[in-house]
Amino acid sequence: MQKGQISVQTENIFPIIKKFLYSDQEIFLRELISNAVDATSKIMTLASKGVFKGEVGDTTIEVILDKENKTITISDKGIGMTADEVQKYLNQVAFSSAQEFLDKYKNESGIIGHFGLGFYSAFMVANKVEVFTKTYKKTVKGATWTCEGNPEYTLEDNKKKERGTDIVLHISDDAEEYLEEGRIQGLLDKYCKFLPVKIKFGTKKETIYEGEGDDQKTKEIEVDNIVNNTHPAWKKQPSELTDEDYKGFYNELYPFSQPPLFWIHLNIDFPFNLTGILYFPKLNNNLEVQKNKIQLYSNQVYVTDEIKEIVPEFLTLLHGVIDSPDIPLNVSRSALQSDRNVKKITGYITKKVAEKLNDLFKKDREGFEAKWKDLSVFVKYGMLSEEKFHEKAINFALLKNTEGEYLTIEDYKTKIKDNQTDKHDKLVMIYTNNPAEHHSFIDSVKNYGYDVLEFDTIIDNHFMQHLEYKLGDITFVRVDSDIASNLVQKDEKMESVLSEKEEEKIKDLFESKVSQAGATIVLQPLSPGDQPVLITKPEFMRRMKEMQALQGMQMDGLPESYNIVVNTNHPLVAEKLVKMRSEEKKEEFVKHLFNLALLNQGMLKGSDLSSFINKSIEYLK
Ligand code: ADP
Repeated sequence: MQKGQISVQTENIFPIIKKFLYSDQEIFLRELISNAVDATSKIMTLASKGVFKGEVGDTTIEVILDKENKTITISDKGIGMTADEVQKYLNQVAFSSAQEFLDKYKNESGIIGHFGLGFYSAFMVANKVEVFTKTYKKTVKGATWTCEGNPEYTLEDNKKKERGTDIVLHISDDAEEYLEEGRIQGLLDKYCKFLPVKIKFGTKKETIYEGEGDDQKTKEIEVDNIVNNTHPAWKKQPSELTDEDYKGFYNELYPFSQPPLFWIHLNIDFPFNLTGILYFPKLNNNLEVQKNKIQLYSNQVYVTDEIKEIVPEFLTLLHGVIDSPDIPLNVSRSALQSDRNVKKITGYITKKVAEKLNDLFKKDREGFEAKWKDLSVFVKYGMLSEEKFHEKAINFALLKNTEGEYLTIEDYKTKIKDNQTDKHDKLVMIYTNNPAEHHSFIDSVKNYGYDVLEFDTIIDNHFMQHLEYKLGDITFVRVDSDIASNLVQKDEKMESVLSEKEEEKIKDLFESKVSQAGATIVLQPLSPGDQPVLITKPEFMRRMKEMQALQGMQMDGLPESYNIVVNTNHPLVAEKLVKMRSEEKKEEFVKHLFNLALLNQGMLKGSDLSSFINKSIEYLK
């Protein structure tokens, strides 16, 4: 037996390994199984090249839990190691790379998936590790290496017959959670679900049916519990897969979810290697829940599902898998964002997503419109945040009007152009974000022959602002931001039926009886068919306020501001009010008209609303 010192350095790194990444301790299993997978791939390669002439046979990797002896064994039938290789790979290569890894990252948080600590990660959970290995080289003896979590190791020959390596972890007392079957199964599901070599963890019961018809009997049998799917969909060619396969894979990733809307199969080898499938989920207006579900793999090994540094923010709404060995994982997250490969990958994914959407739009406009409700937040978010995406999406982003028609921005411009005089440099797009509340406003606007758009996502204010800025020739106004005839400026003006003197009196009356902070009284000769008093909220101030609120800013910054528009041509004003004598009557009348306007805007609340209703009942008596 040979004894030795792993490191020539005096510092004992084992305690550091033990403490390191306490929260990410669990990655030891992934690291060791990855090594087993690598060793298996190597024997396959040697066999295919004819270097290894024997039978490769079954290569299933086994994870064996022994509660009694408090061990976990990871057993592979891979390439194995000679004693010299153990010396070289475990004592030197693995040790120095673990040391390098620790030196680099011990003070750093946020390395993606803590990938690459390697073999020595075993000591995060074990106080003793034994390696029983036998190389594929026929005439060379097996070797056993042991180490008890200090720089000393032993190395001796063994009589192991089968090719491969068994790593036995003697689990330390503070890591006993890993002796629970459920915990290990959970880790295997998380990290190893799509590894390319079969992984067995114990057995499971399966029900089989025997016989036919009435004689049919069920029987329970024990079968190997294989934890992984070695050929996940993203590794296949799109031509091999049906829609059902794609949906099935989605279900494998996110059991019990609603089926996705559609998907993109990514497959590129140059200038970087990337495979994967991205799904468009049903968003259901539940953005936060749906975010950050894309899983990142490196050669089918799970790395992380926190990938905001790798895909642009708006794409984190997508689901699915990205697998790329070209994403550097041994760097901090912040360094990742400026990595050249990552930038290229980001650009590629953005482009693919835009192309897919454009394709759908072109090939199946009806289907695209039907999905627009789910897609719109995503597309708008993308246009706001990525210039490149904006350039593509401007052609397929849709506007929906209150009639339920969907039009591209260009088509909508053409549609409304005729009804707006050429004199104005900007086309006015009238919208509502609440058709039920704005009902009467929408009605009057339609009477003027204008179209009304419907916006209903939380980022629409930003989206409108963005389009106004980007296109330069349009402006959005909410349907209640001005009286209908003023929303789109027209050349013709209505004449007031009142004299200037009468108008002044009316204005004084309103100013003294219903004046409110933030409100401006505006006299307007409208059509007698329009409402007598209207409350309008000028677009600019209202939008600024809403955007501030969305960003969680203080509301006090901007005061509530609105106009009280008095229709001087309405008979209630032009005939009834002007003729009233009693001050008391006038006050009551003006207040009632004002309250009606408030009610129309949903602004009449609490005791004001109650007394208004009581008053109305009085009037009817
Ligand atoms: P890495 O896998 O990144 O090279 P590790 O520290 O995990 O680093 O392992 C170091 C080396 O030890 C591997 O490169 C490999 O040569 C050898 N090794 C580790 N585990 C096994 C195994 N199960 N079978 C054969 N060789 C192994």
